[in-house]
Amino acid sequence: MHIEESVKLDFKDVLIRPKRSTLNSRSEVDIHRKFTFRHSQREYHGIPIIAANMDTTGTFEMARALGKHGLSVALHKHYPKDELVRFFHSLQTENLRPSTAFYSLGILPADFEKFSEIMAKAPDAIGYVCIDVANGYTERFIHFVKKVRTTFPQLTIMAGNVVTGDITEELILAGADIVKVGIGPGSVCTTRKMTGVGYPQLSAIIECADAAHGLGGQICADGGCVVPGDLAKAFGAGADFVMLGGMLAGHDETEGDLVEREGKKFKRFYGMSSRAAMEKYAGGVAQYRASEGKEVLVEYRGPVEGTLQDILGGVRSACTYVGARQLKELTKRTTFVRVSQQLNEVFGKS
Ligand code: 5GP
Repeated sequence: MHIEESVKLDFKDVLIRPKRSTLNSRSEVDIHRKFTFRHSQREYHGIPIIAANMDTTGTFEMARALGKHGLSVALHKHYPKDELVRFFHSLQTENLRPSTAFYSLGILPADFEKFSEIMAKAPDAIGYVCIDVANGYTERFIHFVKKVRTTFPQLTIMAGNVVTGDITEELILAGADIVKVGIGPGSVCTTRKMTGVGYPQLSAIIECADAAHGLGGQICADGGCVVPGDLAKAFGAGADFVMLGGMLAGHDETEGDLVEREGKKFKRFYGMSSRAAMEKYAGGVAQYRASEGKEVLVEYRGPVEGTLQDILGGVRSACTYVGARQLKELTKRTTFVRVSQQLNEVFGKS
């Protein structure tokens, strides 16, 4: 047994210290980023925020709404093949960037087969994939990333999830362009509770970004953002992309019907390894595994557009406070201060 003595931090443990700046307004800030990915050599230009590939948030509707603004969506895994092919072709005709939608897949033979068939029908329409498992530390996962890289060298591959620098490097060397970082911080995730496994998300981002950047790779901070300021902290810590689930739940563009309770409207939101998801797709929770996600009702929030403006406004404003004219400069200009209190909640939590 070993104890790591250095302090590891979460978003709630820090604030970003303001810095003297020549910027007068947040309208002077550009939060687009450009990358040329290490393996695919594909050029990316967009706002590096991605809706999570969860049933509720990884939808075609969300992709269209976010795509208009240069953001991305990792589609959930459950759309039928023909709908996916049609959707990816429509991105081209609607002039949306290829990075608008990541095709998500797990590492089962059936996932690879479905993906190969779709690639055969839409080879030029798909440029981005997200290879997603709860635990990115298995050899099988690394082999799978290698296999997708060898079969489709032109694709930008995002792969995860992991939380440490060693495996981030291994994944990049195996063919990932972007490593997805986060085990346990998600809003509907119960991994930490069920297994005791995890890593404070801010430190995971700092350590994995350092490892990835050393090899010319990128990372996507996945999970744990609850307010726009958390995205600013994630970018400040070195994240190239940030993935959001809970912050995008409850909107028109999410899947699922409205539910009424005591005169108020809600939408269902659940973790992808929750009992709810497993019952929907796998006919129940298999005997050898426990559910590591939960289901919640999120108050209905209308179109995602309003939330998006809040999020982008928050990130732009953070850049103004530290004098970063471009999002790219935010990490360099970030000094975190450790705090014991974040918010004044005397009038409630909102
Ligand atoms: P959020 O933005 O809601 O805090 O986090 C979203 C992320 O939570 C997802 O992108 C995914 O990595 C993770 N996640 C989604 N469903 C589950 C689940 O059922 N269990 C666990 N452990 N993580 C989940």
